[in-house]
Amino acid sequence: MTTVTTPGLERFRGLVSDALLSEIYDLARPLRGVHVLHINTTAQGGGVAALLRVLLPLARELGIPHTWRVVQLDEFAATFMARLTDMLQGGEPGLITPQDQRQFLDSLRSAMQPLVDERADLYYVHDIQLAPLGQLFPYMRPALWFNHIDTARPDPAALQYISQFLDAYALCTFNTPFSVFPQLPAGRTAVITLGIDPFSERHAPLSETEGVVLLAGSGIDPTRPLITQVSRFGRWKNPWQVLEIYRLVKQRHPEVQVALVGALEASDDIRAQAILADLQQRAGDDPDIHLLWDPAQLTAPVVNAFQRFSQVILQRSSREGFGLTVTEAMWKYQPVVGTSATGVRYQITHGYDGFLADDAESAASYTLRLLEERELWRQMGEAAHRSVQERFLLPMMLRDYLAALLRVRQLVASA
Ligand code: UDP
Repeated sequence: MTTVTTPGLERFRGLVSDALLSEIYDLARPLRGVHVLHINTTAQGGGVAALLRVLLPLARELGIPHTWRVVQLDEFAATFMARLTDMLQGGEPGLITPQDQRQFLDSLRSAMQPLVDERADLYYVHDIQLAPLGQLFPYMRPALWFNHIDTARPDPAALQYISQFLDAYALCTFNTPFSVFPQLPAGRTAVITLGIDPFSERHAPLSETEGVVLLAGSGIDPTRPLITQVSRFGRWKNPWQVLEIYRLVKQRHPEVQVALVGALEASDDIRAQAILADLQQRAGDDPDIHLLWDPAQLTAPVVNAFQRFSQVILQRSSREGFGLTVTEAMWKYQPVVGTSATGVRYQITHGYDGFLADDAESAASYTLRLLEERELWRQMGEAAHRSVQERFLLPMMLRDYLAALLRVRQLVASA
């Protein structure tokens, strides 16, 4: 049988194996014409939007119609969810009162109103905040659910609360094996490896000359070293420790600068503003601390320039589902100074293509090594790039994604 190839996927020929591309075409064939509707809570900002933006066009090109709808959560639902996230990610105890639960489900019902007439062959619901949709709207069948946060060490009460909604899903998908809910039967879970699109504007090659101009335009002095963390201003991203590490490094290198790059655009991220204000206060009048939040300024090429041309990239998350920012920096030849948070340690091999350390002092000493030993930095950066090429490019994600869709079609057909 001849395989009909698609231009989007063929760009990857040479970058990934021919066997992987053939596997993707094989998986896609029986899914042709199957309409998949994705529902999440944000069109901009954060990893979920980033992955849907690259995954859906390729899936469509393979003849599988896809739509993507965004549900706007009200303030109550967003606050309730932020608390539940802290419990599930952070393992923190908390109280989920019956009244809060009722109000949350009411909020979800009204948020879904604009979408209730939309029908598809498969429904793909993202994130814990939308987990109840399958139960609230029984027409959504068959449905899949994608948990994107770090649930390696959840608070048991929160896990129990969210689990009650999962019977509605034929398949629950997770971005690392560590976050899979242990009580779910293996037949109803899958891991979907995430991947980046190296051909997108966000990750396209950028010359150093262009990069330097973009960094200077963001207030950075390109003649002095820069350490950077690219991440939303979120509690679990631990931006405070980035400042601590910067201060430790500055004791030996007074010329060092630091940038926290986190566009304030995810409409469901209600706590970022408060965290930014706190960091601004801690930064005081230090001109070498750059807190960058304006989405108009933080265009794809600017973020690309920070990831590519910072001297050292940090990812200090204390919890991380996957951490696409780690993948992105590694692809751009950066050995990331990360932590043992789930998604970060999943991606970095300590001492080979990056470093893992949880406390500020150790992280500062790895940062100093990378700043001072540029040949080591270069070699580890090459290894980081290779690791992403082998494990975390868009075709790997597409393969796992299509396999998940196919599994659900087969489960339903055999039921
Ligand atoms: N990002 C961005 N601009 C910023 C900060 C982050 O475009 O100022 C992007 C980043 O490049 C990545 C995504 O947002 O693609 C963050 O995904 P990640 O999985 O690291 O974290 P999440 O926000 O989903 O927890």
